[in-house]
Formats: sequence, structure tokens, C-alpha cells
Amino acid sequence: MKVAAEKAHFDVETIRKDFPILSRKVNGYPLVYFDNAATSQTPQQVIDTIVDYYSRYNANIHRGVHTLSQEATDAYEQARINIQKHFNAAKAHEIIYTAGTTNAINLVASGFSALLNEGDEIIVSALEHHSNIVPWQMLCERTGAVLKVIPMDENGTLKMEEYDKLLSEKTKLVFVNHVSNALGTVNPVKEIIEKAHAVDAAVLLDGAQAAPHIKADVQDLDVDFYVVSAHKMCGPTGVGVLYGKEEWLNKLPPYQGGGEMIATVTFEKTTYADLPHKFEAGTPNICGGIAFGTALDYMNAIGFEKIAAYEQELLEYATEKLQEIEGLRIYGVSEEKTAVISFNIGEIHPYDIGTIIDKLGIAVRTGHHCAQPIMDFYKIPGTVRASFAFYNTKEEIDAFVEAVKRAKNMLS
Ligand code: PLP
Repeated sequence: MKVAAEKAHFDVETIRKDFPILSRKVNGYPLVYFDNAATSQTPQQVIDTIVDYYSRYNANIHRGVHTLSQEATDAYEQARINIQKHFNAAKAHEIIYTAGTTNAINLVASGFSALLNEGDEIIVSALEHHSNIVPWQMLCERTGAVLKVIPMDENGTLKMEEYDKLLSEKTKLVFVNHVSNALGTVNPVKEIIEKAHAVDAAVLLDGAQAAPHIKADVQDLDVDFYVVSAHKMCGPTGVGVLYGKEEWLNKLPPYQGGGEMIATVTFEKTTYADLPHKFEAGTPNICGGIAFGTALDYMNAIGFEKIAAYEQELLEYATEKLQEIEGLRIYGVSEEKTAVISFNIGEIHPYDIGTIIDKLGIAVRTGHHCAQPIMDFYKIPGTVRASFAFYNTKEEIDAFVEAVKRAKNMLS
């Protein structure tokens, strides 16, 4: 996100002390972790929550009268309220715990099977992660609905005039990512939502890459569904949430059947529980949900505006330094982007660069980043992707740029 150029003092050295993993060495070098878009690192506060849960009150929730079960239930439901407040959802029961973004999208796509008819249209963007493509293709196969794609341009931004042309009274659903994982592009989501609503289509925003950097306000966005993963925002893996407007969640049928999601069961007829439990079959990731609440508290205590401003500084610094390397091309140069740099150097395979710099302790992602259509657009097999978090430093960027130069010299 483009933030005012105010270079606020950001005490990164103190923050780094919260992350034990940042002091480890990899291949004899200090770890430089620039794979934050894949998974962020975990502060001690979140680790403590996990240890505390398993040390003191590990129990199944919602159905026990004993003390441990009640403590676990209270902590889990309190975390739901933290998450509700963070995203400014109107009601706590509009927050559905899921196993993550992928799981949340599949939940919505499965529910829409009951609401779509042959010939209905759904719109996706060219900038999506496979998680926000494949479930909708499967939905189209089930229902006979038609998938339309908002194209992108060379800068890695969506062609909004083409979006206007795709919208019609046939459009029932629009789903785009708030931020592209492969390029960091921040999409014009408010405009996308307003225009979709003008034709009565629902909108799902994949917030997996936005949520670590931008505090989304779901009421202000007026978005129908917003999905995130905890592990990209200092929380544990295997947990995330689906925010859904109450009216939409009531329209969708349950996703999975089982314990927790029922009101009554007989062999003749089962009735379903109210929100949010209707979508939360089986024993959930209790500890994960509680720890997600701690992760949000942790990031909010630092402040999302400060985080975004500092990350923009890192982005600008790294972009300038990398551009000094001859033959290096950065993909995705939109006006508004998060701290992600996707690049290649000449014909060198991104995998080779990633492998060499790993030997120097530097973790980046290489490949198609689960966004093959973007790679096809640029006619490349993949990129090297460095993605920064608020605990990274300019010194780490210096080490990274030097390592990339070394890799280039070895490979060209
Ligand atoms: N959507 C986007 C934009 C992502 O970046 C990712 C993960 O990288 C996902 C969806 C999938 O998230 P998860 O694997 O946590 O379900």
C-alpha cells in the first residue's frame, strides 16, 4: 500500500527480538527470511499462547461442562471477537473459522453450487492465486456457470475498462485478490465491489496477501466475503477465517456435515446450527484460533500504519538496489503495491538463483507462486520473489542484493 512518505521511527531491532527464528543461522550465515508472502514468522507471544494452551487448558470446546473445556471455549470465542474487531465485522458470528484461505474459498464455492444456474456468470481476475481460480472452475463444472476473466496489463494491474465490459445482469459473483501474491499489486477493490453490487453480484475478496499489510475494514469495503490465513500474519498454520455478511452466510448451505454444525439430528431429518457453527463441523483447530487472536493483538500493538510505512521503505530501498543489477527485470510495477518484488535476471532460471542464495542463508521463493496464468502472461517459467515483513531490515536487503549479484556472476 502506498503510504505517505513519512519515515516514522520504527524500532525494528526491538521487534526482531520477539522472533526467535530470526537469530538462527542457515548454512553458516545469519538467516535472511524474505519468504513472508508464503508464510510469516511467529513471535514469542504467539508461541507462548500455543505452549500455554497445551500446558494448561487443552480440551475440546463447546460441549464440555468441565473447567478446561470452558476455558478453551472462552479463549476460542474471545479470539473470534478479536478477529471480528480487527476486520470490523458487524457481528462475531459473521466470522467463520476455517483451515485457511483455500478452505474458506472452497466453502463459499461449494455453497454457491446451490445458488447458481446454467449460464450465470462469475468473474475472476488474471492476477489470482490458484486457490482463487480452481474452486470456481469446479463450481462452473458443477453448475454450468461461465467463468470470465478480467485481464491484466504489462505493469501487473487489472484492466478495469475490461471489467466494466464483463459485468452484466448475468454476473452473480466476482472474486479477486485484494493484493496479488505473485506481484504485490493492490487491486482497486472498492471500485470492483461497487460495480459488482450495481449489477447485484456478490464479491469475495481473497485477503491472504493484503491482511498482513493492510487492515481491511469489511464494512467500509462493503464486501460480501473476505478470506485470510493466519500463517501469513504471524499466526500458526492450518487456521484462517471466512468473513461473510450474515445475509449471505444464511443463504449458503452448510459446507461439511458432522458434529458441532447441527441443531438436532434424527435419521429422518437433521436441522442445522445457527451461525457461525453451521459452517464449523467437527473439532476445529482450537489452539490455532486462539493463537490467531494473539497474532492480531501483536500486530495491532505495533500498528498497521507503522507496519505499512516501514515495509514501503524496505520496498523502495530494495527496488532501487536491485535495479542497479544489469539485466534484472521486476514484474509488477503498479502504483500501489505491497512489499513484494518478483524478478528475473536475463535468461537465468529463478530456481538457480534461489538455490545459490539459500547457500548464503537467504530464503526467497522461486517458481510460479501458484499463479501460473501470470507467468504465462509474461511468458516466463517463474520468478524469484522476495517478500518483506516488518521485522526485516535494510542490512538484510544489502546482504540479499550482494547474494543475488554473486549468483548472477556464477550463472552468467
Ligand atoms: N490466496 C493468495 C493470494 C495467497 O497468496 C495464498 C497463499 O499463498 C492463498 C490464497 C492460499 O492460502 P493458504 O495456502 O493459506 O490456504
